[in-house]
Amino acid sequence: MSDPPAARQPHRRSGLFRVGRFYGVPLYFSASWLIIALLLTLSYGSLIKTVVPGTSRTTSYLAALAFAIVFALCVLAHELGHTAVSLALGRPVRRVVIFLLGGVSEIEHEPDRPRDEFLVSVAGPLVSLALGGVAAAGRLATDYYSVPGVVLTLLMWGNLVVAGFNLLPGLPLDGGRLLRALVWTVARSRLNATRISAWGGRVIAVVVAVSGILVDRSQYGITPGLITLVLAAYLWVGAGQSLRLAEVLDRAPALHLAALLRPGLLVPSDVSVAEALRRANEGRVGGLVLVDAADRPSAIVEERRISAVPMQQRAWTAVSTVARPLDQGLVLPVDLSGTALLDAVRATPASEYLVVDARGAPAGILSAADLAGALRLRSA
Ligand SMILES: [Zn+2]
Repeated sequence: MSDPPAARQPHRRSGLFRVGRFYGVPLYFSASWLIIALLLTLSYGSLIKTVVPGTSRTTSYLAALAFAIVFALCVLAHELGHTAVSLALGRPVRRVVIFLLGGVSEIEHEPDRPRDEFLVSVAGPLVSLALGGVAAAGRLATDYYSVPGVVLTLLMWGNLVVAGFNLLPGLPLDGGRLLRALVWTVARSRLNATRISAWGGRVIAVVVAVSGILVDRSQYGITPGLITLVLAAYLWVGAGQSLRLAEVLDRAPALHLAALLRPGLLVPSDVSVAEALRRANEGRVGGLVLVDAADRPSAIVEERRISAVPMQQRAWTAVSTVARPLDQGLVLPVDLSGTALLDAVRATPASEYLVVDARGAPAGILSAADLAGALRLRSA
């Protein structure tokens, strides 16, 4: 399946470079990874030159660059561990991204069973531990005070740190997911398990932030401290997002598309904005759908765009200029409910959707604002 155009565009803008595919899952490197590669090359280049006597400056820095690249591939292998288990469990993965702070496997749906959550989460750290073990074995067979010896030592510690840090018990880290899976099994509530793991994540974020402020600035200025603070912010925000997602999933079963319908009105696509609004007011409807010459729904008027047309231009602006063509994802069957409804909306983000009945005839409009409102109301 190819990405929808809406999902493809941000990749270009956010500086992501595709490096390959893994069982159909696209793998990306973010431009931000270059910052960490540069920092690793600079700091470990000087280390190699000091530890291995007689090494030229060029050899030292090239070896450090090689370490930075191989280490990124180790982080990628960690993510592919998550991805492989997720795919084996029948859970699609949108993409894998390597960036400034490590890697992320974007799994399509939150697991609905603690067992799946546990298996997907534990796979990454296990890969890192295994790679650390391989590097440790290679190091035993190599002279420690040689360039390969130092690089293998760095790879051993690098992978052990990746495994250890990710196993800390707080969301969005793997350890937070493992903790959530365990609490979820015992307490039988994903929401409560998420609350506990999210607070774990916030505590870890604060500890990381404090260490970022206290970091030694003598050698590389404020860069390592800044990256540490970015990591702390990433963890704090990630913990909050995990919590909100769990709250939404907790309320999802009560969602029914039929109960959220706004009455809609069909209008020809060549009428003016003024005329369309006049008909909408007259019919007291909550949304407008444009029909083509054969009376088939062809586009949906976006409320924000139509109300932004200046009053004096409404008489001669065609309503079709403020409508979005009805692609497949913008047409929802009226019997959608629960997480299936959330998945459908997430797959094609829009402000309005056309809802059709079992025969494919228009049944009304779903406004994304109404859906968000329903999710919030139920929390009160
Ligand atoms: Zn991981």
